[in-house]
Amino acid sequence: MTPKYCANCQGRLRKMSLAGHVRFGCPQCGLVAYGMVRLGVAALLCTRSGDIVLVKRALQPGFGHWTMPGGYIEEDETPRQAVRREIHEELGIAAPQELSLTGVYREASPGAVTIVYQGVITDERPHVLVESLNVRPFAISQIPWSELYFLSTRDALHDWICRHASY
Ligand SMILES: [Zn+2]
Repeated sequence: MTPKYCANCQGRLRKMSLAGHVRFGCPQCGLVAYGMVRLGVAALLCTRSGDIVLVKRALQPGFGHWTMPGGYIEEDETPRQAVRREIHEELGIAAPQELSLTGVYREASPGAVTIVYQGVITDERPHVLVESLNVRPFAISQIPWSELYFLSTRDALHDWICRHASY
């Protein structure tokens, strides 16, 4: 979705070639209309026995597929606040005290990028809430790779497993 008018001077945007990319820009003031990137967060949550908690989505896109709990960052949140909120909203549990960065991943949908944090959940049991059909921990050998939805879920799990390859 490309805007027609410049957000700075309201001039009509035109296609321009900039550093090898064709982009829309303003011939009057030089503003370049870069595409919007939407930032999401997701949580790679591990139980103390080393299983990974996945959520079966009750919403489109990806209805019926497994993903990590996550969602978009609100404008007034830090990424860590967003992932803590999503863990609470989707699993009904408090987020782990310690959350470390797993990585930053591109999604299949253009402009969507997901920041993935990892942490260990201790004694609390995740619940099935409105946004999910099921929530459960999976042993690494049982991860339903063909039923995962977001690229961030697949790629972050892959990275996490490679880093923990000692077992
Ligand atoms: Zn302009």
